[in-house]
Amino acid sequence: ESTNPMGILEENESQVRSYSRSFPTIFKKAKGHTIWDADGNAYIDFFAGAGALNYGHNHDEMKKVLIDYLQNDYISHSLDMGTEARVDFLQTFKKVVLEPRNLDYKVMFPGPTGANTVESALKIARKVTGRELVISFTNAFHGMTIGALSVTANSFKRHGAGMPLSNTVSMPFDDYIEDSCSLAYLEKYLEDKGSGVALPAAIILETVQGEGGINAASKEWLQGVEKLCRQYDILLIVDDVQAGCGRTGTFFSFEPSGIKPDVVCLSKSIGGYGLPLALTLIKPEYDQWGPGEHNGTFRGNNLAIVAASKALKTFWSNDTFQKNVQGKSVVISETLQSFAENYPELKAEARGRGFMQGIACGVEGIAEKICEEAFSRGVIMETSGPQSEVAKLLPPLTITEEALVQGLNIMEESIKAAIE
Ligand code: PMP
Repeated sequence: ESTNPMGILEENESQVRSYSRSFPTIFKKAKGHTIWDADGNAYIDFFAGAGALNYGHNHDEMKKVLIDYLQNDYISHSLDMGTEARVDFLQTFKKVVLEPRNLDYKVMFPGPTGANTVESALKIARKVTGRELVISFTNAFHGMTIGALSVTANSFKRHGAGMPLSNTVSMPFDDYIEDSCSLAYLEKYLEDKGSGVALPAAIILETVQGEGGINAASKEWLQGVEKLCRQYDILLIVDDVQAGCGRTGTFFSFEPSGIKPDVVCLSKSIGGYGLPLALTLIKPEYDQWGPGEHNGTFRGNNLAIVAASKALKTFWSNDTFQKNVQGKSVVISETLQSFAENYPELKAEARGRGFMQGIACGVEGIAEKICEEAFSRGVIMETSGPQSEVAKLLPPLTITEEALVQGLNIMEESIKAAIE
């Protein structure tokens, strides 16, 4: 039997684990944008819990309210009973997030994870429209439960379900087909009555595909999809699980496009402190479930809710934080652009928006190599895309410009090492 920590993981955990393989060390402590392993090595976190730690690790403001909450024996778990924490969160969300953006949604707590909010969104769209089909897009990622997986365009992950998944159609995402308008394709599909094509209940999309390779949809494409949804009475679901909570430079990723989705899925960073929380935002007219038609034991964990309220109050009460994030985003995009130009060996293209960017490399295996080299130099980053061809950056939004530049410099060193 193994006595070293890596060996204990190896022997006792299912082999499905992946991040302990990508980052082969035992981590111990974390603060802000830094993680330390058990041997005391420090790493700059360009991964941020796959977008769950937009405000960094163990943020003091949220930590304070959590400690206070625990100290006072306030209610931690209560199913979906009314608690003061929940009332405060709903008021805060309305005042800080919805009203300033002129958005009107009912808030539903679907269960603790991203997949839970996606499931609930698909279910409510089917209930409201009485239709079954859902349209999603090439390279989409929406979660690992059977419903969420059925709209996820990743054959490797779908293979894990061991069976075909039905009632969904995958359409080309914006720019999927070079020099061709994927919107026209979608339009043609919807208007095709002769072939007996079923009208969908919903169209679900990410405005920037995270797992699928940092593919950012254009404003025009998003507006075009919304228009088709209105024309055919199809619900538009935006999955903002990864791209939301400021990740792309505005609280909701769809704000710059001006679209108003019927349902919005939020999770990951909405919990504020990395605690599990998900929200499904539903336009009031579609809030059609009766009590008990959708439930779950861990809907709305009060600790996560308390941290979430504090995060909204701390970062989103005015636009200072958002402006700061947008400023630092320019540093990322300019640097990645320069990598693509200065290292033609990568055959790379810089992609993404805000704090959700990456370089898509045209040489097989090179993005993975860059991430490995980065890890050995003290930066944690991951790949994404169907062939793991994108070296992806998801730093905490709270990272200092100094650490951001330092991490990007390490990334450049890693690129040099990878192409050697
Ligand atoms: N939607 C998107 C866009 C995601 O990126 C993810 C997670 N990577 C999910 C849904 C699923 O979230 P969870 O892993 O919490 O179920």
